[in-house]
Amino acid sequence: MALIVEKYGGTSVGDIDRIKTVADKVIAAKKRGDDLVVVVSAMSGETNRLTSMAHEVSEVPPARELDVLLSTGEQVTIALLSMALNAKGCKARSCTGSQVHIRTDSVHGKARILDIDGARVRADLANDYVVVIAGFQGVDEEQNITTLGRGGSDTTAVAMASALQADECRIYTDVEGVYTADPRVVPEARLLRQITVEEMLELASSGTKVLQTRSVEFAGKYKVPLRVLSSFEEGPGTLITYEETSVEQPKISGIAYQTDEAKLTIRGVPDQPGVAYQILGPVSDAHINVDIIIQNVSADGTANVTFTVQKNDYAKSMEILNETAERLGAVEVIGDDNIAKVSVVGVGMRSHAGIASKMFKSLADEGINIQMISTSEIKISVIVENKYTELAVRALHHAFGLGKERAA
Ligand code: ADP
Ligand code: ASP
Ligand code: MG
Repeated sequence: MALIVEKYGGTSVGDIDRIKTVADKVIAAKKRGDDLVVVVSAMSGETNRLTSMAHEVSEVPPARELDVLLSTGEQVTIALLSMALNAKGCKARSCTGSQVHIRTDSVHGKARILDIDGARVRADLANDYVVVIAGFQGVDEEQNITTLGRGGSDTTAVAMASALQADECRIYTDVEGVYTADPRVVPEARLLRQITVEEMLELASSGTKVLQTRSVEFAGKYKVPLRVLSSFEEGPGTLITYEETSVEQPKISGIAYQTDEAKLTIRGVPDQPGVAYQILGPVSDAHINVDIIIQNVSADGTANVTFTVQKNDYAKSMEILNETAERLGAVEVIGDDNIAKVSVVGVGMRSHAGIASKMFKSLADEGINIQMISTSEIKISVIVENKYTELAVRALHHAFGLGKERAA
């Protein structure tokens, strides 16, 4: 008998009929003899709806209260799924994050899981229950409700699978697995049967939202057996692997894009040791994650620093940077939230030259201007104007031969 953690995303539990279909799938898995823990998201659109309601009553909703509100979306679906399971004759119990002791830090809106006490879940499983757990939420040391960031139910599932030492964690979503690019943007994108955890991590952190980045980090750290599959179609989906195969890897595994970043530039700061720290320190102190950073020195000996942050941290970052500019006597601060980041990812990059030049040529051929470039061992990212996002993704997918008929 295996222990399986299944996670169903927003579209998969998007209405009552779909919740009943999920119940049927869970029952079928249970009949195969497995113990089941099921993590669910809120119905699709619900987290957005709750967020806009919060902004209708308050310009800057207190983060603690926002988490209390947002966590209700998942409380609805755990109750409905448990009811559907019981109605179909399957013993099931719903649990909120705090009931299963998903302990997090206190960073509301992007809390990190510190630990999970699996005892309660194990006791329910021993009594033959299917345990249905609310994704995306936890509780801090003072019993405040926290949420794990958008897409956080993936992380709940992987963390739960790790805590319970499950045999597999299955992320059921609205596409058949992980593709070479977002299949909604690139129709000829190819389903990957497997992908290394490293590549998945780079893809996720570059915008491939089929898995939340933290869920992949978690999976990598604890080697959680992890698979992404469709809730609507039968199929093996995509397996996340922890070892590179001996078969030669394709150079590039996938293309990712992200349109939720904004760019800030501070110009004309006297160039001296500590300047980068003086500029980026206050941003980091405000728990704002900085992504790409570029610093260069002008002919007059002053430094310019450009960096990107998440769009929802843009206003706050602008405020901080303006204060910094005044303090350091900078010439100006410029902001631009009309950007996109497009990345190519592949472990084959380590052993093949020429990937960057191919990428830049392909973008140039489409007349797309590159504003910033950043690289890691297995990834190259560029910042371009937002309106070119889809064109850039399609051009790169084609240039690297990732399509169905030209599969490497
Ligand atoms: P869920 O609600 O199930 O958590 P998400 O919307 O968070 O689902 O993630 C699934 C979506 O991720 C897909 O509908 C797809 O458009 C998008 N996506 C982006 N890039 C990829 C990719 N490379 N492979 C698969 N899906 C991708
Ligand atoms: N409901 C949350 C969101 O929409 C968490 C999730 O779906 O994973 O981001
Ligand atoms: Mg998701």
